[in-house]
Amino acid sequence: MQRDASILILGGGTFGLSTAYHLARAGYTKITVVEKSATVPPEQSAGNDLNKIIRAEYEDPFYADLALEAIEQWRKPLFGPYYREVGYLLATSPAAEEKTKATLQRSLRSISQHPAWESKIRPIEKRSDISDVAPAFTGAMPWTGYFNSLAGYAHSADALTALYSACCALGVQIELGETIEHLRYEGSCCIGASTKSGKQFDATATIVTLGASVSAVLPSIAPQIKAVGFPLAHIQLSPEEAKRLRGLPVTYARDLGFFFEPDHRTHLLKVCSAGAGYTWFNASETMSVPPAEPEDSAFIMDSDEAKMRELLRQSLPELADRPLLDKRICWCADSLDTDFVIDYVPGSEGLIVVSGDSGHAFKMLPIAGQWVKKVLEEGRQDVPRWRWKEVEMQGNESVSWRVGTRKDLRELTQQRTVISKL
Ligand SMILES: Cc1cc2nc3c(=O)[nH]c(=O)nc-3n(C[C@H](O)[C@H](O)[C@H](O)COP(=O)(O)OP(=O)(O)OC[C@H]3O[C@@H](n4cnc5c(N)ncnc54)[C@H](O)[C@@H]3O)c2cc1C
Repeated sequence: MQRDASILILGGGTFGLSTAYHLARAGYTKITVVEKSATVPPEQSAGNDLNKIIRAEYEDPFYADLALEAIEQWRKPLFGPYYREVGYLLATSPAAEEKTKATLQRSLRSISQHPAWESKIRPIEKRSDISDVAPAFTGAMPWTGYFNSLAGYAHSADALTALYSACCALGVQIELGETIEHLRYEGSCCIGASTKSGKQFDATATIVTLGASVSAVLPSIAPQIKAVGFPLAHIQLSPEEAKRLRGLPVTYARDLGFFFEPDHRTHLLKVCSAGAGYTWFNASETMSVPPAEPEDSAFIMDSDEAKMRELLRQSLPELADRPLLDKRICWCADSLDTDFVIDYVPGSEGLIVVSGDSGHAFKMLPIAGQWVKKVLEEGRQDVPRWRWKEVEMQGNESVSWRVGTRKDLRELTQQRTVISKL
């Protein structure tokens, strides 16, 4: 690929900005990112959040090694200010199903034999083991699991903003507030894209990084990718309460949910419930994309709220009955096997798609763009698991690290509306 080829990146979220950054650093001079949000970080990016877990335990050593590489970069100047290596407390409560307990054991095995974690892991077998690593907890926490000190979290919204600035400084053109409607073709060659407002962008190479909304612009990917939403909420702490919890590890009871150290600036504590997430299928059930109306993502189900409160009741009971703020559903793009899809789109030229984040891609922000650059330059994807897959997705509830059964939020919302009108 010529360094002065025009490269169009659709979507300015996690994968989009990382791609723009790595291409610009490699000397590409005509990079344009088109993002529908008018603000930075993009409102609808799954990465636009107080924080995200940065950890490298995966059941699969392939991703563990990549995540370790990413953590190295999270410690370096561009990303370093947004990374807090507070550790990761991963456990199950006594009520956890066997499947959930087995997942945790596989996570532990994946890192306990790896030299990077030598002397970084401590077993959690009794309450005093938790006090040793995190004295601020006040709950009974009858949990078992382990503490991994080689992990933490990123201030994700702030990291995206920093990467946006770095891209601008490298000469990347970023068009905010433009919603891509169509890809443009000449024969089978993709020559760019057009927006709802009628703007047309020309490109030698077009890279689609539209997160959970990818199928709306690239419908041929719908059988292998579906939008899946996960609930989250926040609790407002006082400055004193936040100070008392400073340094708290990321805490994840796999059957209940997880929460983070309170944010240093806002004193908000973010909490998420565990679960298989929700789809939002269209009426003909051909694709799951996030709902068009923002209010359809601005609530959480009572069952998820109950899990969040139970998680807190067991760990920080003084917070268990506090109001939950900014409750919402955050949307990812799930692939069948939770592998990313980074490949040329079959049947077209000049069109690459980066998708299938499956809820675990934010940690890769510092390095993901390198993988896209490689595909762009080599004209093919060498990593079989990241190739486009011609499969019919039946549902991936069997994914070992997901808890529970997935439901369709559109159907549940319709039922809620009917009930509220009764
Ligand atoms: C609740 C929750 C918790 C998570 N926790 C973690 C975690 O702890 N650790 C971790 O590593 N990952 C986590 N993730 C996953 C992580 O956030 C995603 O994997 C990652 O952000 C996906 O990146 P993306 O670029 O594919 O999508 P996004 O970051 O969502 O970017 C897609 C962009 O495309 C834009 N867009 C969409 N449609 C259009 C259009 N038509 N025109 C123009 N622009 C458009 C959007 O506005 C958005 O900015 C979590 C996700 C959720 C939902």
